[in-house]
Amino acid sequence: MSRMRFAGKSYSNGSVPSAVLAEVLPSGRHGVSRTSRAYLRRDAAASWNRAVAEVRSGTGLDLTVRGWNRSLAEQRRFFLERYRPGAHSPFGDYRRYGGSTYGRVRGAAAAVPGYSNHGWALAVDVNDFGGVGEFGNARRVRAFPILQRHGWTDTEGRRVREPWHLVYSPTSDVGARRRAPTARRTRAPRRPPTIRPGCPRSSWTRLWKEFLTAEGDFGGRPGPVFGEALADATRRWQRRAGLHDDAVVGPRTWYRAVQGARYQGTGARVKIAQRIAGLRGQDVDGRAGPVFLRRWKQIQRWLGVVPDASIGHRTVAALVLKG
Ligand SMILES: [Zn+2]
Repeated sequence: MSRMRFAGKSYSNGSVPSAVLAEVLPSGRHGVSRTSRAYLRRDAAASWNRAVAEVRSGTGLDLTVRGWNRSLAEQRRFFLERYRPGAHSPFGDYRRYGGSTYGRVRGAAAAVPGYSNHGWALAVDVNDFGGVGEFGNARRVRAFPILQRHGWTDTEGRRVREPWHLVYSPTSDVGARRRAPTARRTRAPRRPPTIRPGCPRSSWTRLWKEFLTAEGDFGGRPGPVFGEALADATRRWQRRAGLHDDAVVGPRTWYRAVQGARYQGTGARVKIAQRIAGLRGQDVDGRAGPVFLRRWKQIQRWLGVVPDASIGHRTVAALVLKG
C-alpha cells in the first residue's frame, strides 16, 4: 500500500495521524445524526472551512458532511457491507480485494479498503447533495461552483455517480494560492566583508574605490588595490558621514554608504546595495530596477522597516543593529 507525506509525517491510507488532521466546521454538526465531529487533513479542512463560509454568505446554505477521514477498519466495514466475494452485482460493480473478486450487492459504491480518498482524509460526503446520480440537486448546483474554487473536485464522484462525494485537490485551490504570498519570503541581506589598507585585492575594494570616486573623495586609478590614497579618501568620507575614521571599511561603513540608494537610482551606491542584497552578475549593474525594488523590500520586511526600497536612515540603522 502506498504512503503519503504531509507536514513532515509519513503515513498510509486509513491511518492519517491526528497531528495532521484538523476539525471541519461547524464543530459537532456532522454525520447522519448531525452531532458528530468531522476531521480532514489540515490543508483540506482549512480549505473546506473557508469554502463553507463563502457558501453560507453567498447562498445562505449551511453545509455539513456525513463522510470524512476514514480509518482502514471503517473502510473495510463499509466495503464488506456492500460487496460480497464471488457475488453477482446487479450494478455491474466488481472489485478485486485480498485476492478475490467482490461484487456490489447493495448500497452505493465503496472504495477498496486502503484506496479511498477518505483514507487520506482528503474527501467529504456532503449531506443533502442529492441521491445516486442526482447531480442536478438544487443545493449542490448552488454550492458546488464555490467549493470548486477552493479545490473541491467531483471527478471521482461523477465516476461512481455520487453527487455528495468531493475530493480535495490542493493544486486547484485558488484560495490557497491567493494566500501563499502572505507567507512572505524574508531572506536576510548579505553581510559585506571588511576591507582595509593592504588587504588582498578584492572586487569589493574595486567597488569601494568606484564609490569614493563618485563621491569626489578619491582621484586615483580604479582597481582592486587598497593603498594609502584610498585610505586617506576613506577617512575623509567616514568623517563626513559621522563614522569613526579608521579607514577600515566594515559592515557599518558599507551600510552607511548605501543610504540614499533608491528604486530607479543609478551609480556605485546602487551597486553596493545590489551586492548587499545578494544579487550577482548582470543584476549588479548600478541601475536600481524591478529586481532591486523587490529584493530591498524583502530585506526591509526582514528588518522590520516599512518596505519602500528607498534606503533611508531607518533601514541603515536596522542593518547596523542586525550586524
Ligand atoms: Zn465519499
